[in-house]
Amino acid sequence: MATHRTKMLIIGSGPAGYSAAIYGARAMMEPIVVQGLQPGGQLTITTDVENYPGFRDVVQGPWLMEEMKAQAEHVGTRMMWDTIVEVDLENGSPFRAVGDSGDEYIGDVLVIATGAQAKWLGVPGEQELGGKGVSACATCDGFFYRGKKVAVIGGGNTAVEEALYLTNHSDDVTLIHRRDELRAEKILQDRLLNHPKISVLWNKTVESFEAGDNGALSHVRLRDTQTGEDSDFGCDGAFVAIGHAPSTELFKGKLPMDDSGYLLVEAGTPKTSIPGVFAAGDVMDHTYRQAVTAAGTGCMAALDAERFLATLEVAEREAAE
Ligand SMILES: Cc1cc2nc3c(=O)[nH]c(=O)nc-3n(C[C@H](O)[C@H](O)[C@H](O)COP(=O)(O)OP(=O)(O)OC[C@H]3O[C@@H](n4cnc5c(N)ncnc54)[C@H](O)[C@@H]3O)c2cc1C
Repeated sequence: MATHRTKMLIIGSGPAGYSAAIYGARAMMEPIVVQGLQPGGQLTITTDVENYPGFRDVVQGPWLMEEMKAQAEHVGTRMMWDTIVEVDLENGSPFRAVGDSGDEYIGDVLVIATGAQAKWLGVPGEQELGGKGVSACATCDGFFYRGKKVAVIGGGNTAVEEALYLTNHSDDVTLIHRRDELRAEKILQDRLLNHPKISVLWNKTVESFEAGDNGALSHVRLRDTQTGEDSDFGCDGAFVAIGHAPSTELFKGKLPMDDSGYLLVEAGTPKTSIPGVFAAGDVMDHTYRQAVTAAGTGCMAALDAERFLATLEVAEREAAE
């Protein structure tokens, strides 16, 4: 069991965590990144990424995250293979965290970049066909289905927004919902139900995603919730849009969150309610949820962390005089 002391402790190794680390290391904060169970974050489970600036051609998600990690290490970040299981924020800076390994981490500032996970249906074919027709992000993958037939599964705001977004790329969008009415806000429902490119299949649950001879999605197997009848719905892309879950279990009762568990920050900043604790990326952003926005807020967290440390140092000097 070891204790690791740093000026800047970062929990999470997605675009937000790595970007915070790159800025933090260059500002001599000697960051430690505790990577968690998914080193590299959500982009490691996707294939093509076409919207991260700086690359003319499509890049692969896992490759992009390896590059970000290498950049963070190159400028002086220490990476830890550990998962934080406990945090102590009550007494202010320095903040203490404990890893699954039993190691203790102490940071003068803490950046929380634990991200979020898309909720999945958990039916056969869903994970196998991820990146081959099944996705959980229309903004990320909609472009790959230009002119093709797509389905969106869900009935809340996320699903309706995803379906509306997909009409930018496809003339044939079908929303599949297990009930006979939507949960989405009325204004979104109206836009969806009146959209000429969108149809709705009511009272259908998805039983499985099925591949064609080319190994990509060919159809979705559906079951009618009223008649029990099975049917196949042929499509090129299927977007599971049943919501996201932020990884904030650790912070329950310790930091303010919204009803869905996203960390609350001061508007336009990554500052949480505790001075010196910052939140960056999907863990505090249920609206944009993109790699570039996560990286952007990671950068903001590091810049604000630097300012916080400077204030702390002045206060300590004054107290010593
Ligand atoms: C299938 C898919 C495809 C996508 N495609 C695109 C795309 O093409 N373009 C795009 O811009 N965005 C895309 N996204 C969205 C993008 O991946 C996310 O917006 C982005 O990864 C969020 O970054 P983040 O750093 O906030 O968190 P995440 O990437 O979610 O990373 C969270 C990190 O926190 C760590 N962690 C969690 N809990 C702990 C803990 N207790 N202790 C230590 N570490 C912990 C995890 O191990 C992980 O490293 C896609 C998402 C998915 C799921």
